[in-house]
Amino acid sequence: MKIVMLGAPGAGKGTQAKMIAEKYTIPHISTGDIFRANIKNGTPLGAKAKEYMDKGLLVPDELVCDLVVDRIKQDDCKNGYILDGFPRTIPQAEALTDALSKINDKVEFAINVEVPDENIVNRMSGRRACVGCGATYHIKYNAPKVEDVCDTCGEKLILRDDDKPETVQKRLDVYHEQTQPLIDYYKNQGVLAEVDGTVDMDLVFDNIVKLLEA
Ligand code: AMP
Repeated sequence: MKIVMLGAPGAGKGTQAKMIAEKYTIPHISTGDIFRANIKNGTPLGAKAKEYMDKGLLVPDELVCDLVVDRIKQDDCKNGYILDGFPRTIPQAEALTDALSKINDKVEFAINVEVPDENIVNRMSGRRACVGCGATYHIKYNAPKVEDVCDTCGEKLILRDDDKPETVQKRLDVYHEQTQPLIDYYKNQGVLAEVDGTVDMDLVFDNIVKLLEA
């Protein structure tokens, strides 16, 4: 199962991607997580990515495409994977299509989690991320068991710099301009599946599973 998750920042695609990866035992590949791990480990890639991320901008395509194409060639991706946060531009989608077509393969599902802009800013300000493992929560919709503490690793939860309201609006603008065109791109490939992301996250998940198993 080769799946791409689409949707605005804060639409909940990361949470859904993780749930799908667990259900179907396929790797969850989040480019945002890869960049954040690089920032935490002080790598040159992390330093470059941070310049863009802190401003709510996309990291340049050339820093992202090879990284993902190399990752999906690894052994654990043989039975499929779920890409979360990639592709985010048409050139990234084309790079993925090209890399897959070389091995006679293609994306099977592009799942678009739809949430209107007006819900997004509100959602992002309630989002909390773990400084240890990167897991994300929402103070209202997906709260940790203990306030500000990660259920998984026990580390502290924070509001990420790029989830602060001033950066969120910029990320939304960037989303509409550069990422939204991917909806038509995958519609034209005949693999687009759309779900309402405004309902309870377990219901969003059930609806995604129905689409994948239809
Ligand atoms: P995310 O956790 O997916 O919301 O990603 C956080 C930030 O990482 C984004 O706002 C971008 O700055 C950067 N990023 C993640 N994935 C990509 C990508 N495919 N292309 C460009 N920038 C990305």
